Amino acid sequence: MQDNAFLVATEGSAREETVEQAAENETRTIFGDYIGELYVERYFSKEAKSDVTEMVRLFIMVEINKAKFVPLASKQGKPVERAGWDDTLPVFAVNAGYTPAINGIIFPAGIFQGLFYDDNAPKEKNLGAIGMIIAHEISHAFDDNRAKYDENGNVRDWWTAEDYTKFQELCQGVISLFDGKKFVPGLVGNGTHTLGENIADMGGPSCALAVAESMIPNVDYKLFFDSNAAMWQASRCSRARMEYILSADVHSPAVLRANINFQNIDKFYEVYGIIEGDGMYLAPEKRIKIW
Ligand SMILES: [Zn+2]
Repeated sequence: MQDNAFLVATEGSAREETVEQAAENETRTIFGDYIGELYVERYFSKEAKSDVTEMVRLFIMVEINKAKFVPLASKQGKPVERAGWDDTLPVFAVNAGYTPAINGIIFPAGIFQGLFYDDNAPKEKNLGAIGMIIAHEISHAFDDNRAKYDENGNVRDWWTAEDYTKFQELCQGVISLFDGKKFVPGLVGNGTHTLGENIADMGGPSCALAVAESMIPNVDYKLFFDSNAAMWQASRCSRARMEYILSADVHSPAVLRANINFQNIDKFYEVYGIIEGDGMYLAPEKRIKIW
């Protein structure tokens, strides 16, 4: 039985309890865990627990998404922050991207390592790898699809009719270079499906090479091309993965990305002494240069 005088002193009023109620309260307090076990056994099934646990998980998810999207929603109607970070790529991602809506390029810190970048390496090596990727992403601003956006990220036709017709002709040429190109037995490239990436891939090494020539007195071209090839070689994958890439990815398989791009660069023939009849040879009139 509770001491009514004590309750009045500590809680301001006394509870009137019967002996049975007081006994129940004491039992509940002392044997709570044991009674809980019996309660769960009888009234709270494993299925109910898993259902409710899932519900809690979803609520917490909802909260994480809210924390992520509420700040984004608050930017609506305000001037575009073109220098803002596009969090579709986390900082540790080994990747890079171009975003037409802000006409911006994104390079997470994760890509500046390994075959892509080495701060102790000669400039040619870095330009052949990360330099090519940087130029690839910039070239995306002028691929077949993104060329329809203007410098502010708005869909606007900024081309002269003559230039656009010429651009379209070159795009058709790129499609032809990749379409039906056999690279392993039974698998061939799809030029239409991969056009945007192939245009960016062609802009990549040619722009990076132009930069190398503008800043290095005696360019080690072999180091540049070897570095580029090593990067693609590291992306080799299984046949099943290649089949997936061909059916669902907008990029060409790595072997085509390396070989076809080199075939369009005149300097490549000179550096490796490639002549008519060699496997990598492409007649000068068939080589395509867009950017
Ligand atoms: Zn790309």
